[in-house]
Amino acid sequence: MPEAPFDWLDRHAEQRRRAGLSRTLRPRPADDPVLDLAGNDYLGLTHHPRVTRAAADAALRWGAGSTGSRLVTGTTALHGELEAELAALCGAEAALVFASGYAANLAAVSALTGPGTLIASDAANHASLIDGCRLSRAEKAVVPHADPEAFAKALAGHDGRAVAVTDSVFSVDGDAAPLAALAVVCREAGAGLLVDDAHGLGVLGEGGAGAVSAAGLAGSPDVVTTVTLSKSLGSQGGAVVGPARVIRHLVENARTFIFDTGLAPAAVGGALEALRVIREEPGRPVRTREVARELSERLASAGLLASTPDAAVVSVRAPSPEAALRWAERCREQGVAVGCFRPPSVPDGISRLRLTARADLTAAQVDAAVGVVVGTAPREPIGD
Ligand code: PMP
Repeated sequence: MPEAPFDWLDRHAEQRRRAGLSRTLRPRPADDPVLDLAGNDYLGLTHHPRVTRAAADAALRWGAGSTGSRLVTGTTALHGELEAELAALCGAEAALVFASGYAANLAAVSALTGPGTLIASDAANHASLIDGCRLSRAEKAVVPHADPEAFAKALAGHDGRAVAVTDSVFSVDGDAAPLAALAVVCREAGAGLLVDDAHGLGVLGEGGAGAVSAAGLAGSPDVVTTVTLSKSLGSQGGAVVGPARVIRHLVENARTFIFDTGLAPAAVGGALEALRVIREEPGRPVRTREVARELSERLASAGLLASTPDAAVVSVRAPSPEAALRWAERCREQGVAVGCFRPPSVPDGISRLRLTARADLTAAQVDAAVGVVVGTAPREPIGD
């Protein structure tokens, strides 16, 4: 008897289970007593009373959904306000809000490139940038990680349009891209620079203005930045920030803008209020960076191989996918949630625990988290 069309899924799932790579969804209880170092709420704003109140008020005023695509009925006055405030924080001419950071990345990469264009893309870029490259049908060069000379080599000799694409802070190891050097390389090669600042906005730069601003590139006519509203801004959604003509082009050409329903008013209202809180409390980004440094130093001095964080992400090496999973599980049993990265989220042979710093963590909580991660560490040798 021939196989049913989806029988292969069971074999595939079994293979992944045997390799220790199965994934399960675990609903997070409201009021979870576990200390959260797994999420991306870097500034501790997701539950900030002003932010949740603004999200609720926006839903009451504008509705639970935006009712349509941005070009039809899905743009409210709040969307415009958020775009103006995001552009102001980043020191850019304009911004455009999308339903997610993922959609913003697909839009920015695919609408600014195309057949005949060259994209030079960092090997450690986020999946959404990679998918944007695939959608673009441009020529692609995957460039060794965080290596401006490799970018220069990839861009040299191409006489058409070219764009270099990079994360600002890499989501697994928490290291920062050499943005100032990349901007020089791009300028010399006549290429645009597209930066995904998902992990930099709200954490790096003066007042949380982001990695592009921290690199002295705010307002550059040749740099386009994408951000998410779901990490430092405690909400949901994404945006592209940059020159006005780029934003105009995206409004008219980006498929994930045109054919997607506009971001829900509650998410817009929450993000907008988060931006206002950040403006009034510029100490929050500073505290997040302090907590990240503290976590990393304490883990390293306890003998664990932790990254030196450039922003809020602290990455700790694990010996294998199975060991990483067990380690994360033991941390959770002892009251601390940490991220666990295994293939295919990271390249084969690499496994990590990921701890994320938050501005609202107290010294006692940092102590407790370090104690649990160190106390549950596997005995096998660690390295990759
Ligand atoms: N870029 C990076 C570097 C990310 O880490 C993420 C979120 N995991 C995204 C883009 C996607 O953003 P969003 O979750 O808003 O779709």
